Amino acid sequence: MTKLKNSVKANKTLSEINTKGDALKHSTEIYRNLIEATADSIYMVDSSCRYIYANPRYCSRLNLTLQDIIGQHYSDFHSPEETAKFEKDVLEVFEKGIPFQREYQSKRDANEFLRTFYPIRQSASDNISAVGIIAKDINDLRHAQELYTTLAENSPIGFLIIQDGIIKWTNKKLRDLMGYSSDELTNKPYSSFIHPEDRQLVKDNSVAMLQGTISLPYEYRIITKNGDHLWHVGTVSSINYQGQRAILGSQMDITSQKQAETKLRQSEERYRTIIDTITDAYYEVDLAGNTTVFNEAYLKLYEYSAKEMQGKNYKTYVDKEKAQMAYWVFNQVFKTGKPTKKMEWEIITKSGKKKNVELSVSLIIDANGKAQGFRGIISDITERLQTEEIIRHQAFHDPLTGLANRILFYDRMQMAFKLAKRNQKMVAVIILDIDRFKEINDTHGHMAGDNILKSVAERLSGLVRSSDTVARYGGDEFTLIMPSLSCESDALVIVKKIISVFDSPFHIEKTSIKVTSSVGVAIYPAHGTNADTLMNKADNAMYRAKAMGRNKYCLYGNESDRSN
Ligand code: GH3
Ligand code: MG
Repeated sequence: MTKLKNSVKANKTLSEINTKGDALKHSTEIYRNLIEATADSIYMVDSSCRYIYANPRYCSRLNLTLQDIIGQHYSDFHSPEETAKFEKDVLEVFEKGIPFQREYQSKRDANEFLRTFYPIRQSASDNISAVGIIAKDINDLRHAQELYTTLAENSPIGFLIIQDGIIKWTNKKLRDLMGYSSDELTNKPYSSFIHPEDRQLVKDNSVAMLQGTISLPYEYRIITKNGDHLWHVGTVSSINYQGQRAILGSQMDITSQKQAETKLRQSEERYRTIIDTITDAYYEVDLAGNTTVFNEAYLKLYEYSAKEMQGKNYKTYVDKEKAQMAYWVFNQVFKTGKPTKKMEWEIITKSGKKKNVELSVSLIIDANGKAQGFRGIISDITERLQTEEIIRHQAFHDPLTGLANRILFYDRMQMAFKLAKRNQKMVAVIILDIDRFKEINDTHGHMAGDNILKSVAERLSGLVRSSDTVARYGGDEFTLIMPSLSCESDALVIVKKIISVFDSPFHIEKTSIKVTSSVGVAIYPAHGTNADTLMNKADNAMYRAKAMGRNKYCLYGNESDRSN
């Protein structure tokens, strides 16, 4: 290394160098304090790389005292390679006379430093007498840079920096999202990558966010390199970039969520349309049974307005017994999670009308699998039940008189025989045929005939016990079953009573018509044990009564005529 004329003695300290006047002394003191307190390593070497000063930080780094260091050569504490590099840098300061910075990795502690080499002169006009070195520990800075690079480049969020509407920087994720290279994006207007319809929205929202009036991310479409329109959600914040104000934007692709949202909305719309157009009532209730969702048909069914229905508990429109039944069914659905398809129920409408309904119940489960309430469909089956009842009634009853018909009569006969067999009783099977009914029809008209048939039915029904059966077997023929008789004479008492219903005439439109009938009786089990046999025998007896001049009754097998 070149030796310089004005080299400073190795044992001279900084304070000894600057000793010109009191003011100077004072300021020197301040500098010394600063230098000794700083976290940077500061030291000085002469042209031969011997230490002439080291601050406490440097001493502690070398783990030596100031006395150990001053006067020593740089190579005393450093490797030959480090020394060679250092000597080159010191020489450069002496040669060029200007400060410069070099990065340097210490072998001693593996730390990275940014070393500033600067020339030291006794005064501005003097030659360089020493070289000062400020070594700044840049380890933290390095780590911060590494962290930043890792975050910026591996972030799942796209980042970009925009200045005056122009893209200045993008991270990898943003480039991946947009499908462009860094060059294709850098220095291009940001708005050119936004869907034209959303440009104003992005502008307004970013301004509002920078002003702090909105804080939630906003959604917009971007245009990728291959022309796709993808949905992004973004935020902006104000930053300083390379000494100027800039915007840091963040973006995430939410296209798939948007598509899922659209699908969900469409399916909700579909269900809403179905629910609104079906004639059945749709309901949703919470776990306490308060109505939360319903359709028009539901309101129509219960006769309440939407306002009245909202939040109404199911108990308010059923009676106590039906409320308990519903509670049980809903509880079963809650416990098992299995829906109930058809539960027959009875509701009470606002006007107090009772309606028969059929309802389905299924559990509403939230996203966490927790039960939220119940939903289902309610069909008004009042009319259906009534129709079914009418049809059932028609199948077993005579439409003119409302009495049991031939089918029901046969059924009742079988039942009566079974019961009588068990209880060792008798059953009287009675056939009654109106005498000369054709003539009545001919004389008074068919309508009058009908009215007489109805009156006969009423009179017979009024006569018998509830366990007895009166049927219109066909035409002007009526049949009766008298179960649980103890003896034959019981039957004859009843037959006499039957005949007596014809004692008084029938009044049809102010006309009094005298009607008589012929009656035949057969007894179970005396005359047979099956329905056909007994009917034949009763019929037989009835014809005998006719043959004997009508207005009479005959017991099968008994040859003696009876008349009322
Ligand atoms: P008989 O004394 O032998 O019984 O003479 P009848 O005229 O009553 O003759 P029969 O019992 O054999 O005939 C029944 C008649 O009843 C035939 C029909 O004109 C009449 N008839 C049958 N069904 C109805 C009906 O629903 N309404 C009316 N008005 N008449 C009926
Ligand atoms: Mg007749």
